[in-house]
Amino acid sequence: MHDILPEHAERWRALESLIHDFAGRFGYGEIRTPLVEHTDVFQRTIGEATDLVEKEMYTFTDRGGRSLSLRPEGTAGVMRAYLEHGMASWPQPVRLYYIAPMFRYDRPQKGRYRMHHQFGAEIIGSPSPAADVEVLSLPIRLIQALGLTEVSVRLNSVGDATCRPAYVEALRTYFTTHVDRLCDDCRRRLAVNPLRILECREPECHAVAMGAPPSRDYLCGPCREHLEGVKTLFSAVGIPYVEDPMIVRGLDYYTRTAVEIFSGRLGGAQNAVLGGGRYDGLAEQLGGPSTPGVGFGQGIERLLLVLEAEGLRVPRSVGQHDGVAVFVASVGSAAGVEAFKLLDQLRRAGIRSVGEMQGRSLRAQMKQADKLGVRYAVILGEQELAARQAGVRDMRNGTQDAVALDQVLPTLSARTTEDR
Ligand SMILES: [Zn+2]
Ligand SMILES: [Zn+2]
Repeated sequence: MHDILPEHAERWRALESLIHDFAGRFGYGEIRTPLVEHTDVFQRTIGEATDLVEKEMYTFTDRGGRSLSLRPEGTAGVMRAYLEHGMASWPQPVRLYYIAPMFRYDRPQKGRYRMHHQFGAEIIGSPSPAADVEVLSLPIRLIQALGLTEVSVRLNSVGDATCRPAYVEALRTYFTTHVDRLCDDCRRRLAVNPLRILECREPECHAVAMGAPPSRDYLCGPCREHLEGVKTLFSAVGIPYVEDPMIVRGLDYYTRTAVEIFSGRLGGAQNAVLGGGRYDGLAEQLGGPSTPGVGFGQGIERLLLVLEAEGLRVPRSVGQHDGVAVFVASVGSAAGVEAFKLLDQLRRAGIRSVGEMQGRSLRAQMKQADKLGVRYAVILGEQELAARQAGVRDMRNGTQDAVALDQVLPTLSARTTEDR
């Protein structure tokens, strides 16, 4: 797990405010569900025989003897809330998004944390391919706005309850003939869910999987029609995609559309930035009525790493600044009191300001102001105080003006407004 320190928290907040902005533009409402759910919520949806539930969940018993788990992903909790609050009676479909921490007892590696954050959105109540493409274009348009202009979609359909059983059997038959080349985990998967072998990162398993029959050969009519609808709409909005039979999503509740979204050139270096898919079977697994849904989850740490690697900055929203704008330097206790009053005024006027409290020399204070990268320094020495004045220094060009004490606030208000 990791701490987010002030220097980085600025980037987080800028990204979060952009996410809220984009989600709003797409008509999605924010949902905040608890960090913990009954363990049952994840066991019923993600499945007991998955690594996620068996090895990676933070599960504990509370004082009332209930088994609770820190959420490892966002969709199950959102669907639980959809059912619990009777959102089926709201205007359909229901569009929801969240920015929230997720917990997985994963092997630690660069950019992967046991607590990480996800931006996710779900559109619940529509079986239309338009829902798939709408919810997936939300993060695509967002990352394009961040400057990751080369975005592409790897698209597949994993079928539905009608056609998937035949496909899973075909996979089982295929992998059984190559069982001696599979890793131990995959041998287990062969019995439980051979689909998951397609996602194994072991080179030998991957090599075997490349020769597996593709799901598109097993799709029923309605699933085929759905996939065509998704392709038509991606093309209509100019989002490039390629069909990739290896994209299956690891969780049992996914049906039909499965995608991974990459930044970078197709064929060249690429980064997977998010994944998503349709989960028409999820509501029933939670004991609700059959309800179609589709969504995605995007790791925020991962996205920030990709942005950093590409040398891209998150654009700041109006009203946000990098760091502190004003440093109020003072020498002597009488000036210290004036400085404190001035800081209070500046802060109440919305100007980010800090002052001296270590009793350093003026020279050391100006060094400090420089280190903080402030735009202006206000200097209150005994001389200035006697004249009821302060020095206002523009740190960028070093010019300094003497300003009457009661004019410092209006002067800095005007200048910092201009700077924006
Ligand atoms: Zn394997
Ligand atoms: Zn089907």
